[in-house]
Amino acid sequence: MSRFDGVIIGAGHNGLTLGAYMARAGMKVCVLERNAWIGGGCTTDEPILPGYRCNLHSNFYIGFSEAPLVRDLELQRFGFSYVEPPVQQGVTMRDGTALTIHKDLERSCASIARFSRHDAEAFRNLHETYAVKMRSFFTSVLYNPPVAPDEMRQRLSGPMGKEFLAHAPLDLFQAVDRHFEDHRIRTFFKLFMHVTTAENVPGTGLIFPTIMSSISRLALPTGGSAALPLALARVIESAGGEVRTSADVREIVVEGGRAVAARLSDGSRIDGTRFVASGIDAPTTIQLAGTANFPAAVTDKLAKWHWADHSLVTLHLALNAPPRYVSAKFDPDIDRAFNVFFGFDDTEQMARCFDQCRRGEFPDAPMGNGACNSMFDPTYAPAGKHAAFWWPFAPYALPGGAGEWDRRKDEYLARILRVWREFAPNLTDDNIQGTYLFTPLDIERRNSSMKKGAVRLGAYIPSQLGVNRPHPLLADNRTPIEGLYLCGSSNHGGGANGGPGYNAANAIATDLKLKRAWVPVTAPEWNG
Ligand SMILES: Cc1cc2nc3c(=O)[nH]c(=O)nc-3n(C[C@H](O)[C@H](O)[C@H](O)COP(=O)(O)OP(=O)(O)OC[C@H]3O[C@@H](n4cnc5c(N)ncnc54)[C@H](O)[C@@H]3O)c2cc1C
Repeated sequence: MSRFDGVIIGAGHNGLTLGAYMARAGMKVCVLERNAWIGGGCTTDEPILPGYRCNLHSNFYIGFSEAPLVRDLELQRFGFSYVEPPVQQGVTMRDGTALTIHKDLERSCASIARFSRHDAEAFRNLHETYAVKMRSFFTSVLYNPPVAPDEMRQRLSGPMGKEFLAHAPLDLFQAVDRHFEDHRIRTFFKLFMHVTTAENVPGTGLIFPTIMSSISRLALPTGGSAALPLALARVIESAGGEVRTSADVREIVVEGGRAVAARLSDGSRIDGTRFVASGIDAPTTIQLAGTANFPAAVTDKLAKWHWADHSLVTLHLALNAPPRYVSAKFDPDIDRAFNVFFGFDDTEQMARCFDQCRRGEFPDAPMGNGACNSMFDPTYAPAGKHAAFWWPFAPYALPGGAGEWDRRKDEYLARILRVWREFAPNLTDDNIQGTYLFTPLDIERRNSSMKKGAVRLGAYIPSQLGVNRPHPLLADNRTPIEGLYLCGSSNHGGGANGGPGYNAANAIATDLKLKRAWVPVTAPEWNG
């Protein structure tokens, strides 16, 4: 069959989210994926040894207890579930101390108070404001089209709203320093924000309260990150739609000003009689649809799209026993923490790490976060064994070019393992059954939308956030081409949360006057 109501390019979780919502609205859809597998940045593989499951990209699914797609699409019925470990974040430091953030607020405050009573109180206030009182607001922001700053100011006219907006002109570091005083606590939060590919430039400060709203809502998908795209594909297929792999789209066919089909590399054409949507990066989408169909303001901006100043290099380990951290003597909960950060001593060193990434140098002090997933879901490893990873920040290209990652893989693997062992000395040769290094170049190779190892399909900088993502004329998931929509992470949302796919579904449902099988998330308003 080559004629569908809707054609969607890219079977990342966003393309599939859109497809599943459209299927629920009665549309026959076809999702086209160039890889031989689906999932994009939500994939799970066994590159070390059979049974040791590695999430090659996203691992921490954030805010899924409120994500409308889980409920609306009954994803549990289609095989998707997750666990939210009680010790959510851990920070282990060279001085032997450790900080832990729990689902339980009191335990988080007690841990922070060992470093600073002031910061424990600050955390409590931030948690109560952003994670409790304004929680539904942040869900509304994510699962709605972005709102222009002036309009947002009107909608947030109360004292709590004003306090939130006071972060808007700040950079990441200023936003953190506004609340915390201990240098270790400050450095942890600053590092955390860089995980989203946010840059420390004026205008990114709002990311801080957003992250505070979900810092204790990290989930591990049961069985692997791939469980999400697989469940979404089942929703589509159960409604008679199709998900086709090894289907590389090389053109979005536009006839009479309207997007009508996708043409594959093999020359075949798949028609979307009512819509065509792209879940791949926006710069490539406009190339596929013909840049002449877009205003110069859009093509000029997307030609200069800022992919990322830093990427991630992941060391995956197959283990007999999970990492045991030196700092467990200080706080035993570090050995039960899900998202574990280490490698940094202070903010200056951290700032240098990102400067070095920007300059294309491997940081002299590698730092970042990781997890031992099998501690929370035993299906990640064979019985009694463990699978763990650490992903320090790294440049896309090393001196000499990105190809150096292939040439010097063993050297970097050894370097990264050496740092991890400083913190977890039980990672001995006896304990390690096998290793796998997944480099920024591998990220790009496995997913052509993550150019230059851009983990979120484009950096988080003010010109690429909110209504500017990817451009004001494309921000509501529509395009100047009739019938063509954007549903990937270079639009508002991003991360493994289905936001762009969900927002595109609402845009299409409105335009095509479809009967929604779901109740849309209310628009972001806050009177407090
Ligand atoms: C190492 C790493 C760690 C990460 N960790 C996290 C995390 O813990 N939590 C989190 O929330 N996010 C994380 N992310 C980010 C997350 O993976 C992405 O934000 C998310 O997967 C993007 O989803 P998407 O559906 O928008 O796009 P993608 O997943 O990129 O999907 C795009 C799809 O389109 C396909 N495609 C591209 N071009 C074509 C074409 N011409 N024809 C057909 N198909 C095409 C691609 O192959 C891909 O499958 C991480 C990313 C990386 C790389």
